[in-house]
Amino acid sequence: MKRKISIIGSTGSIGTQALEVIEELGQDKFEIYGLAAGGNTELLNTQIKKFKPKRVYASRNITNVDFNNVLSGDEGLTELASDKENDIILMAVSGHYGLKPTIAAIRNGIDIALANKETLVMAGDIIMQEVKKYNVKLLPVDSEHSAIHQCIKNISDISKLIITASGGPFLNKSSYDMAHSDIKQVLNHPRWKMGKKITVDSATLMNKGLEVIEAHHLFDIDYDNIEVVIHPQSIVHSAVEYKDGSVIAQLGLPSMHIPIQYALTYPERIEGIKSKSFSFSEIARLDFSKPDFDKFPCLKLAIEAGKRGGCSPVIMNASNEETVYAFLSGIISYNDIYPTVEKIFKTYPEQKINTLDDIFELDKEVRIKTKELLQGAKII
Ligand code: NDP
Ligand code: MG
Repeated sequence: MKRKISIIGSTGSIGTQALEVIEELGQDKFEIYGLAAGGNTELLNTQIKKFKPKRVYASRNITNVDFNNVLSGDEGLTELASDKENDIILMAVSGHYGLKPTIAAIRNGIDIALANKETLVMAGDIIMQEVKKYNVKLLPVDSEHSAIHQCIKNISDISKLIITASGGPFLNKSSYDMAHSDIKQVLNHPRWKMGKKITVDSATLMNKGLEVIEAHHLFDIDYDNIEVVIHPQSIVHSAVEYKDGSVIAQLGLPSMHIPIQYALTYPERIEGIKSKSFSFSEIARLDFSKPDFDKFPCLKLAIEAGKRGGCSPVIMNASNEETVYAFLSGIISYNDIYPTVEKIFKTYPEQKINTLDDIFELDKEVRIKTKELLQGAKII
């Protein structure tokens, strides 16, 4: 059966790889119904020519887009994602932009392939309730969660999730080196080529903290039963431990094509983009160790926020996102990231979160507060 899909974030790291996967799967599997980009209209135009979508969105530079009636603004993105012509959407924007369109798509009965982890960090409880209520599929694209999804037969038989982390560019660097690293070093991830925001989060290990929260919601598992383990080779993408002590892991060469394709074709397994075949004998060794929470305090903070629940993950996520953007703009140094997020997280007043509107409001306010704090920061 041919399914109509919209790629939200088509010009990004996940979006472009998803289009490669879809191209390889062939025209009888998917029709590109919609493409949504930020401001890279040059690439968007190339994609429009090639995939001939019915609807197109751009958040910036819309006059450069070679398409009639280009959608724009917050409402435009939500309109495209929740258009009932979609059978499935791939949510691959970065940061908080993903939440509104994702919830709107779920409420219109559209399946979601979810790369945007911030959506679950901000509103995991509500999202998972809506997924049940509207009976849609929410399939993880994040490689660790895809791995876990592939390992679980029956969730009630699982005693622990084991989430692997490459450790990022600073795994073997001293605190002194980390403090004196520039943007280029922070963005130089040893295993994965990804968008800038997630790459900074991978250097601080905030990304792994966000993934713990993501896993808690996706698989309905207590935080105490989620373990993070450093595995620099990124071959074991994650694992689950069953009640009887058996551990099942998903392995593969590091490539996002596999989890993207799995989310799009689930429950089918199809021959797709052919990467090198896997060989245990060619992989000399697999190392595992405990994460260093003192060296990577963002990981600890994110897990604490997840455990507290309610407003805490929203506050942590919003302050982290704004702080990362400030780092990427050269306003603060790497060493300022954690203290900024921590300060907002520890001082922002607790409040009750009942509705999505409460979340949007709080997210907006925390961003403003974080920007105010950052304005007083020293320029490096
Ligand atoms: P990128 O920064 O590479 O891509 C982001 C995409 O979103 C781009 O197409 C960008 O457009 C678009 N975009 C930005 N702002 C808007 C907006 N306001 N409206 C619509 N589109 C917008 O990020 P990644 O692909 O790396 O990551 C996407 C998500 O997937 C993140 O949440 C990340 O955590 C998650 N993820 C990514 C992985 C990876 O390997 N990259 C692995 C696991 C999860 P443009 O470029 O045109 O401005
Ligand atoms: Mg991941």
